[in-house]
Amino acid sequence: MIIQVTDLTKSYGELQVLKGITTQVAEKEVVCIIGPSGSGKSTFLRCLNQLEPLTSGRVVINGHDLSDPKTDINKVREEVGMVFQRFNLFPHKTVLENVMLAPIKVRKLAHEEARKQGLALLEKVGLQDKADVYPERLSGGQMQRVAIARALAMNPKVMLFDEPTSALDPELVGEVLAVMKSLAKEGMTMVVVTHEMGFAKEVGDRIIFMDQGIIMAEGSPKEFFDNTSHERLRSFLGKVL
Ligand code: ADP
Ligand code: MG
Repeated sequence: MIIQVTDLTKSYGELQVLKGITTQVAEKEVVCIIGPSGSGKSTFLRCLNQLEPLTSGRVVINGHDLSDPKTDINKVREEVGMVFQRFNLFPHKTVLENVMLAPIKVRKLAHEEARKQGLALLEKVGLQDKADVYPERLSGGQMQRVAIARALAMNPKVMLFDEPTSALDPELVGEVLAVMKSLAKEGMTMVVVTHEMGFAKEVGDRIIFMDQGIIMAEGSPKEFFDNTSHERLRSFLGKVL
């Protein structure tokens, strides 16, 4: 198990957002998280790479115990890549520079090596020809693919995606999902919050339905979509499918 979460809770002041989450993710597994807005999906992902401190419970990720004060959080963040709904590329840097930045600054790669790696990653996401372009010249789908390449540049062991296609025009969703799918095929461990049920069904090894800060249901895509005996899940799927 590369991710182990045990009885995780997270509160903001009086508001308890995560109410005891227990789950684990195996190496190379693709877990898709679905659920209504406000159910705590983003908070859960943010707890996995310590963007939010845990309130209680335990998260162990690639051997790092996040509740242990001795854990080097920067190391954890290197090993856990994250892609958000909004791309947050640096506007005054070219596509290639965006991808090269963290490896040079954090991993201390030499410029030439970072450049080689950056170009290879851009090729992987189908954007090698955009290397010297500035982000403003890209479509949303292209920007998100650059954001994925940028996260991969740290050689993460796990990739977290928080609704990576939700901000995109519908015609641009497919190209981003295709990159994610190929990543999954290569054996990347992925946790993906998404409303793209087709993706969840096809690429997900397991689906987690979160609602009101807990895991309401969990299972293989087949169990999920063929046999939705769970009332709240059925009603949620009725709205999104
Ligand atoms: P989801 O991603 O499933 O839509 P979130 O994890 O974003 O849900 O939010 C769950 C709940 O936590 C919401 O009620 C939201 O308002 C609250 N919340 C999220 N982040 C914060 C924060 N930084 N401070 C206070 N409340 C927050
Ligand atoms: Mg969210």
